[in-house]
Amino acid sequence: MTNDAPVVRVEGLEKSFAGLKVLKGVSLSARKGEVVAILGRSGSGKSTFLRCLNLLETPDQGRLSIDGRELTFPFGGNGPKPSRKTIENLRAVTGMVFQGFNLWSHKTAIENITEAPIHVLGRPKAECIEEARALLARVGLSDRADYYPMHLSGGQQQRVAIARALAMRPKVILFDEPTSALDPELVGEVLQVMRGLAEDGMTMLVVTHEIGFAREVANRVVFFEEGRVGLDASPREAFGNHPHEGFRRFLASQGNAMGTAAG
Ligand code: ADP
Ligand code: MG
Repeated sequence: MTNDAPVVRVEGLEKSFAGLKVLKGVSLSARKGEVVAILGRSGSGKSTFLRCLNLLETPDQGRLSIDGRELTFPFGGNGPKPSRKTIENLRAVTGMVFQGFNLWSHKTAIENITEAPIHVLGRPKAECIEEARALLARVGLSDRADYYPMHLSGGQQQRVAIARALAMRPKVILFDEPTSALDPELVGEVLQVMRGLAEDGMTMLVVTHEIGFAREVANRVVFFEEGRVGLDASPREAFGNHPHEGFRRFLASQGNAMGTAAG
């Protein structure tokens, strides 16, 4: 289900690192409930793009709006970097799931999920625990609530990470190659959880090498090419009979490189 309100709107986003221009004016939007698959070669700027969206990196130029929170760069107001409050405001609605899970190793699955709702949002502990149990059920891990990450498989850890993101009640979840660090036999269980989120109407931006997921689950396919959006199309168009030349070459190269962990 989608409606017309763009949850994410990005215009002309630019970012350089030490003189190397990594994002060269990226524009992209996602409406409520849309799943946007972002594909592209290693080094094309996909991670930098996602990191700019929740201000893990500060964009140099461009405009950014997430759930009505608008920012223009270069950032004025409080100096060169957005204030802590601005960043927290944006991150409150922007969940992020990384390739490497990034769970707290000294906390159990359920503690990983309740940590931020209790300590960042200041919500009542009992309520957060109850909600965390429901989230664990949603990702198929009801029986693992009290396990530490080291006693969970990679696929289970990533599902906890997804539950942790959901616990903040985000308006959009950004996934950066969520299955790339997993053994092949564990990829499916994570993709299945993501497919469930998509069916439930979550707005999602998903950087992935899983072509099947892009083809079957995404509403749109965005192809990054050297810091630019080379293609932004429906899966039907993107994978159709007359593919974009650069995208076609990318897909052909993926055929050979599938299964190798790309950055
Ligand atoms: P992708 O995720 O598509 O593989 P990245 O966004 O990670 O691409 O990287 C794009 C380019 O930006 C690469 O050349 C990378 O080396 C460079 N880069 C990314 N982050 C940094 C950083 N913090 N400092 C310097 N260069 C960076
Ligand atoms: Mg990357």
